Amino acid sequence: MILSIFTLIGGEPHSAQHLTGSKLFPANAEHSQSQIIVNVERPEQFRYLDRSDFHKWALTAASSIKAFYKDYPLARTVITVHAGVGDTVLYGESTFNDELAQGEIEVQVGRETSFESLISSWTLTHEMVHLTFPIVHEEDRWLAEGIATYVEPIARKRTGLISEEQVWQELAEGLPQGFSEGGPPYLRIGNFRGTRHRGEMYWGGALFCLLADLKIRESTSNRMGLEDALVSIVQAGGTSASDWSARKALSVADAKLGKPVLLPLFEQFQDEQVEVDLQELYDKLGLVYDQGEFRLNDEAPLLPLRLAIIGNGGGK
Ligand SMILES: [Zn+2]
Repeated sequence: MILSIFTLIGGEPHSAQHLTGSKLFPANAEHSQSQIIVNVERPEQFRYLDRSDFHKWALTAASSIKAFYKDYPLARTVITVHAGVGDTVLYGESTFNDELAQGEIEVQVGRETSFESLISSWTLTHEMVHLTFPIVHEEDRWLAEGIATYVEPIARKRTGLISEEQVWQELAEGLPQGFSEGGPPYLRIGNFRGTRHRGEMYWGGALFCLLADLKIRESTSNRMGLEDALVSIVQAGGTSASDWSARKALSVADAKLGKPVLLPLFEQFQDEQVEVDLQELYDKLGLVYDQGEFRLNDEAPLLPLRLAIIGNGGGK
């Protein structure tokens, strides 16, 4: 049963329920219409949530995607919500249905979940990031998870859902999990081809994204970043609706950047090992733990890059 449909036409969210909202989607000539359908299975099972709450969650996540990618990448997305046990968002999964030409997201949400907990959940934004990138071969899966892990908090920061400090704290705490061999100072990382190790897939992939972002920014005087690369892939048609490989997507992005950055780094992470001193990286970015408390150091040498990553790109 389809419970709510809203269509983003020329920027204004319109819905079957006349959901009013601010101008989350300003008029855009290139992609004037994105339809998002929210299908809540047995909504009476949710103690504190009704369909309009799921609707708002979907809009909020879509606006985060728009804040990062400039546009919502698919014409049609169907979100199916299932009830589960507990008071948090439990699970998400996404794919593209070629037959119906639509992105599909399944999420499981605890029956006792509050509206605040739903809106602050990252899961739907993470799944929508997956829809912006090709559904890659199993052996490249870490790349897709890394992109979703890296982009999701930045995108949510840009819609004001979380703070700059939260983005970096989450990253600083997560990245060590990308090193399956463990132990500070976390020097070697890689050989990710086909990995099923969760830390490597999510956080190792996120470290690939952070290093790629810094590389791009350092080589362009901070005029471009990973977001320009990812946006160029979407604009060239390399979304989940495409049959592109990871290599093709990264090659398209490198062409946009005017130099091979992403593909060589990807190949290194895939089949070799890369030396990364995380502590040194944190020091340069100004990610500091002071007696167990996380804080940002605004005197750090890479401050302009850190600000550009979190903000709206470089000086373009
Ligand atoms: Zn994922």
